[in-house]
This record gives sequence, structure tokens and C-alpha cells, in this order.
Amino acid sequence: DKNTQDNLYFDSYSDVTIHEEMIADTVRTNTYRMAILKNSKAIEGKVVLDVGAGTGVLSIFCVQAGARKVYAVEASSIADQAVRIVKLNKMEDRVDVIKGRLETIDLPEQVDVIVSEWMGYALLHESMLNSVIFARDKWLKPGGLILPCKAELYVAPINDLVVEDRLNFWSTVKDQYDVDMSCMSDFAKKCIMNKDITVNLVTVEDVLSHPSKFAELDLHTVTLEQLKSVRGQFHCECFGSSSVNALCVWFTVTFPSEEKPLVLSTSPFKPETHWKQAVLYLDEPVDVMQDTKVEGEINLFPSEESARHICIHVDYTIGNNKKNSKTFSIPDGYC
Ligand code: SAH
Repeated sequence: DKNTQDNLYFDSYSDVTIHEEMIADTVRTNTYRMAILKNSKAIEGKVVLDVGAGTGVLSIFCVQAGARKVYAVEASSIADQAVRIVKLNKMEDRVDVIKGRLETIDLPEQVDVIVSEWMGYALLHESMLNSVIFARDKWLKPGGLILPCKAELYVAPINDLVVEDRLNFWSTVKDQYDVDMSCMSDFAKKCIMNKDITVNLVTVEDVLSHPSKFAELDLHTVTLEQLKSVRGQFHCECFGSSSVNALCVWFTVTFPSEEKPLVLSTSPFKPETHWKQAVLYLDEPVDVMQDTKVEGEINLFPSEESARHICIHVDYTIGNNKKNSKTFSIPDGYC
């Protein structure tokens, strides 16, 4: 049930590994740091709520930006480490670590700013954004600030060369051992080009068109209802001759700023992050030429069995081929 799923979810954050991965992701952590420091005018002397504080790193950035008080809410036992880290940095008077679920804890006051690092694979895996919306509706003063304030989803067709090689592999066995295994490539295709959302680093050279933005969430206005289905259309035109064997999905989040907005991007064209990209394999590779259109609709929704698991449904057409659809989900063990 939901409680057991939530317990499993929070347990996954009680270990050091996941926090190590996040803090070591300098693109992620530095962008938050820059964004918080650049918003110091809005943070100075103000009250901040850190939704899912983890080790407390974002709360500490907020104190460094001048916050009067930060409520660092964390449900997993990593909260005990956050307490120690806050003490080590001599910020006990500014940061209150509150161990508990955002949905059930109490705060002594409304807050001016919400900061949170809630993004999962394919943006919405883990469904933590629901907690940020809950926090916004319950604790944020009218006109308050949300960091980040916007999220965008992108897609592009790709030719995953690694998969192409793996499918091809079975045709090369005969040369090696004088045993023909070429009939395995069908089976390999079925196994590899399955319904899993594959979290992988996509090489720039494998991307076959400009990205197409298919959805955007304004964190000030998005509702829990809207998160039940985040959908939109995409339109891509291929750069040149190749074969499409997958769609690649990624996201950006944007921080408010008086100058140029600060963007944390997980694009394959940008420095890598621990989110990598979400790869959706088609059942069959499809040949394309320059200007071949790859179009359709993508729908992200929480799985019925486990609300923290993201599913992605894609309707697509490639050139003059008939319309296809496929539903993907994140396999267990990703969090
Ligand atoms: N802010 C930290 C950790 C981000 S990971 C950092 O940037 O490094 C997200 C954290 O949010 C996890 O530690 C998870 O346990 C916590 N979390 C997720 N949903 C929560 C909720 N509803 N209440 C409290 N904590 C939550």
C-alpha cells in the first residue's frame, strides 16, 4: 500500500550513496547554489522552507544568502546527519531540522521562500513534486518565491549506437566461432527494445534532430490534479539520413532571476548530471532522411500500482509510417 511504498522510498534516502551522488553532481549542486545566492535580495532576512532537505545543503546555502530562518524538513533518517552538518557549520540558530513528512509536520509560521530539489528521472519519477505543491499551498505566503519556479520537458529522436551494435552482434558470431547465431537478433531486439524507461547518458552524435519541448510546469500555479497527466505534442525534423531506434526525454528547471534566468539542464547537449537522460526504445528501428518528421504526443503519469513510479505513453509517427504507440515505465530499483 501507499504507506509501505512511502517507507521504502524514504529508506532509500537513509543511505549515504544517494546523497554522495547528489552532492558530487556539481552541475546540480552549483546551479542551486548560484540560484540561491543570486536571489539573496529576496532571501535576506526572510523565512525559508527546504522541502526534502537531505543533508541540509540547500538550507545552508540559504543561510549563506542571508535567510533569517530555514525550516529543513526531511522524512528519512538522513535528517540526523543534517543536524550534525548544520551544527558543524554553526548555523543551529538559523536552521531548524524537522524530521518528518512535509505532509504531516507543523511549522510555527508561514514562509517567504520554498526551496526544493524534487526532480527525479524523467523529471517526475518519485512524484516528489506533489510534496512541493502541498508545501506551497499550505505554507507559502502569497507572492512568495519558489526555487526553482519552472520545469520543462524535451524530447528528440536518437540513434542509440550501442543498441545497434548489440543487435548486430549476433550476426558477427559466425565469423568468430563458425556458429550461426544471426537468428538471435530478433530475440535480442525484443529483450533490449522493451518497455523499460532506460536511464542512460545519450551521446550528442546520436541525437537526430533539434529538441522539441512538449510540456512546461509553472510551479506557482501547477496543481496536484494536473500532475496526474503531464502531456504535450512534439514535432521534430531529422538532420539527415539515419535510423531512429529510440526517443530521448530530458528536462530543465529554471530559477527566478532579475537578470538572465538560471537554468539547470539535463540535456544531452549540456554537461552530464546524475539524472542522465531517459531513453525510450521503439519496437523497431525506422530509417529517416533529412527533414523526415518525427511527431506525436507524450504523456507522463504515475503508475497505478505505485504512485511514485512514472510511466510514459508515447504516440508517434515517423515520416509516412503509420502511427504507433508504446507505454514505458521505470523498472524497480531506480530511485
Ligand atoms: N535537498 C537535498 C536532498 C534532495 S533529495 C539536496 O539537494 O541534496 C530529496 C530528499 O527529499 C530526500 O532526502 C527525501 O527523503 C526527501 N523527501 C521527499 N519527499 C519528502 C516529504 N514528503 N517529506 C519530507 N522529506 C521528503
